[in-house]
Amino acid sequence: MNPSQTIQQEDKLSVLRKYEKYVTKDGKAILFSTKSCRGEEVSCPFLLKAPRPLAREIKGKLDELSFNPRLYDKIPGRILPHMTFKTAVAGCPNSCSTPQIKDFGVIAQESVVVDPSCECTLCRKCLKACRDAAITLKEDKTVIIDQEKCMKCGLCARVCPTGSIKLDKKGYSIVLGGKIGRHPRFAVQLMEHATEEQVLKALEICAERILAGKGRNLYEFLIRKPFLEELRKALKEVA
Ligand code: SF4
Ligand code: SF4
Ligand code: SF4
Repeated sequence: MNPSQTIQQEDKLSVLRKYEKYVTKDGKAILFSTKSCRGEEVSCPFLLKAPRPLAREIKGKLDELSFNPRLYDKIPGRILPHMTFKTAVAGCPNSCSTPQIKDFGVIAQESVVVDPSCECTLCRKCLKACRDAAITLKEDKTVIIDQEKCMKCGLCARVCPTGSIKLDKKGYSIVLGGKIGRHPRFAVQLMEHATEEQVLKALEICAERILAGKGRNLYEFLIRKPFLEELRKALKEVA
């Protein structure tokens, strides 16, 4: 490294170096973060899928793509904390790792369905389990789930003793483009019930697009409709 490169590197990391989390012990930039909720550690009763293995896969994929050095080379001038790529995985829709305010968020989900072939006993356990008032029980034992209100937490299916409410699909909701700061914004949903392979493919496409983009406005494209449509199409081809 010649002296001018040293100066350039010092200038680029002059802000990030003030925070331990952005710089390794040997002075290399850490330009992405992967947060996971603590569902496994605390034996959380809401946990649908342990988030840490997927968080490790996300980190592994970004390392495989050499995301850190490539983003470092791409950003002109000083790198600021908001320019780092933030990802999060949550083990259930309670979303304790705040994926909705990350660039790339993943939330484990389980959707449920009513099975009319199993007779409801009107025990009301599902009503007690549902925090979103998404279930209606009628006197004739008809069960109705309001899918607009349902958060896909799967709790009602777990407590139903007769199978009147059953698990339908498991997977992940992928959300993109959330942020905090001067102009905060909730992430938009890319897709529901994604497989792990689809999550990692979506991540790879987003990361390559970030690294191919121009200027310092790195993540705005993540919520644009044409990009979301293109990404959904690409993910249909992934198992
Ligand atoms: S996101 Fe869900 S599983 Fe994870 S800690 Fe919070 S409540 Fe528990
Ligand atoms: S899955 Fe969760 S939110 Fe949806 S109806 Fe069942 S308990 Fe309510
Ligand atoms: S938990 Fe099952 S059996 Fe009990 S009221 Fe709800 S749907 Fe009916």
